[in-house]
Amino acid sequence: MTRSISIFGATGSIGASTLDLVARDPQRWRVEALTANCQAAELARLARLHNARVAVVADEGCLPELRAALAGSDIEAAGGNAALVEVAARGADLTVAAIVGCAGLAPTMAAIRTGGTVALANKEALVSAGEVMTAAVRQYGATLLPVDSEHNAIFQCLAGNDIADVRWITLTASGGPLREWSMARLEAATAAEAVAHPNWSMGAKISVDSATMFNKGLEFIEAYHLFPVGHERLRIVVHPQSVIHSMVEYRDGSTLAQLGPADMRVPIASALAWPLRMDTPCAPLDLPAIGQLTFLAPDEMRFPATRLAREAVIAGGAAPAVLNAANEVAVAAFLAGQIRFTQIAQIVAQVLENCCPPPPACLDDVLAVDSLARRQASAMLEPA
Ligand code: NAD
Ligand code: MG
Repeated sequence: MTRSISIFGATGSIGASTLDLVARDPQRWRVEALTANCQAAELARLARLHNARVAVVADEGCLPELRAALAGSDIEAAGGNAALVEVAARGADLTVAAIVGCAGLAPTMAAIRTGGTVALANKEALVSAGEVMTAAVRQYGATLLPVDSEHNAIFQCLAGNDIADVRWITLTASGGPLREWSMARLEAATAAEAVAHPNWSMGAKISVDSATMFNKGLEFIEAYHLFPVGHERLRIVVHPQSVIHSMVEYRDGSTLAQLGPADMRVPIASALAWPLRMDTPCAPLDLPAIGQLTFLAPDEMRFPATRLAREAVIAGGAAPAVLNAANEVAVAAFLAGQIRFTQIAQIVAQVLENCCPPPPACLDDVLAVDSLARRQASAMLEPA
């Protein structure tokens, strides 16, 4: 049976991996919508290649370029954030939420409100919206399939079990490219050093998040919302080989783990085929070649991000959205050469301390918290 698929953030790393799998089974998939921020030419190329029905650029200024690039085809072109939400609200059998940052929240919520199935890579959306998103999932009868490799692993390890029997959920973390660096060296880490991930090839923002460990902090909050076991049962272990993508320990002492190559097409395929399985071209695990799997406790002195995330979960309310927004601003400033690597966590900690809006009750509240925290973080970037 053919299924329709829409990919929000089609020009990114997750978008490319998803389209790679979709293109391998053209009988199975009909591409409905593809979106990008402002890469109009690349989006038009993908839309033509995959025979999409509609292409959307979030940046309205790029719409003329998209229209021109799609001239002569019957692919609909649209632009602007409202168009992104409108196209998400049309629904698809599967919507892949692969925009980076809180910018993906509104279209993801619109897809959830169709009651459809959403494959969620866009962790910042769930971190920011938290209960607002999980309540919408329940209210509209939507299905959320985690694409983030750790959460996809946990999802697989929970299948067929009762969540009440879970003793621990252990998120594994590679530790990122700067895992062994001293504090003094971290101070001077450049953007190029921070994005040079040893195991995964990803977009710039998540690569910096891996280096600071904010990626694991965001994932801790993401896991808290996806798997209702309570934050006390969630823990993080550093596992530099990225072979075990996460684990679930049950009360009888059994631990189930999901292993696989460090290739996002594996968790994406799991969401595309769910509840069945599909073929992927991913290299099989060669355990003798890998040799050893090692595990370490996270160092929250050098990498305070996971502690900040845990504190934000415990504080609840707006805190996770504040943490996420401040981190987005700080990461962009770091990538632009405006601040040092170690200032990212300092800015997030400071904004978390100063910015305490009331708990968001709806999508508009979350977006308001997000912009408030962004303004506070941006103000910290200005020279004193
Ligand atoms: P990326 O930077 O490679 O791609 C981001 C996509 O979002 C692009 O299509 C871009 O055009 C679009 N976009 C960016 N800003 C936008 C805006 N303001 N409005 C609308 N669209 C916008 O990012 P990525 O690495 O593919 O990551 C996407 C999401 O998936 C992130 O939330 C990330 O944390 C998550 N994720 C990624 C990986 C990975 O391996 N890349 C793994 C796990 C989770
Ligand atoms: Mg992950």
